[in-house]
Amino acid sequence: MKLELETIPVWDGVASKSECYVCDLMAEAQKDALSFYLGNSVMNPGTRVKVNESGFCTKHWQLLTAANKPQGIALMTDTYLGMTRTKFEKSINSLLGTKNPRQAKKAIQSLKEDMQKREKGCLVCSAMQQRLDRYLFTTCYLWGEDSAFRSALQEGKGFCLHHFQLLLETAPAVLSGSLLAQFVHDLTQTEVLNLDRIANDVHWMTQKYKSENMDKPWNGCEDAHKRGVDKMTGRHRVIDPV
Ligand SMILES: [Zn+2]
Ligand SMILES: [Zn+2]
Repeated sequence: MKLELETIPVWDGVASKSECYVCDLMAEAQKDALSFYLGNSVMNPGTRVKVNESGFCTKHWQLLTAANKPQGIALMTDTYLGMTRTKFEKSINSLLGTKNPRQAKKAIQSLKEDMQKREKGCLVCSAMQQRLDRYLFTTCYLWGEDSAFRSALQEGKGFCLHHFQLLLETAPAVLSGSLLAQFVHDLTQTEVLNLDRIANDVHWMTQKYKSENMDKPWNGCEDAHKRGVDKMTGRHRVIDPV
């Protein structure tokens, strides 16, 4: 695997003691990719061709339209809708010309296939995916090369389950032999400790709602439900890369 190392953001991430620094880095990657499609790049014909072909996933179309930059979105939507109309022409004519149930079912299926192709891929997700691959690679690489990073990762709060699994999946391309086995063991140990920590926090939160515990301290568990959900699912993840 040949990937550019991203040592500085990954070191900053591990030093931040976040619940999942990969999620934080993905939030940045998403922001950067959205800014690109909200900026002057949409005036560039090459960008518009890419938008016409791939478009965005529903989440990223929504974030783009919510960003209060209507002119650029109008330009992209204008040509995207035109392209969609062209791609759907055959299916629409079949739907309009249907004469019997067999033709109707065939036309409905054809539109479904067009929709599936049209909705596949997202330019923001694919930009995020490229950065994600580099962050995962760098994390495994630094763990193998730098004992200070190894300790920092062990003392950290682990990752969301989604990025934990992706790190494990990346590891065999970066580490080998006993190092790979040790990485898998150490990362899992840190992850399980931190899952248990959050589970205890969430449990205390449920107990705090009982009247007998009303006057007891929260112990920092006021937001444990949110941290629990984030830990299980990841706050920022790639949905639909091209
Ligand atoms: Zn994450
Ligand atoms: Zn997307």
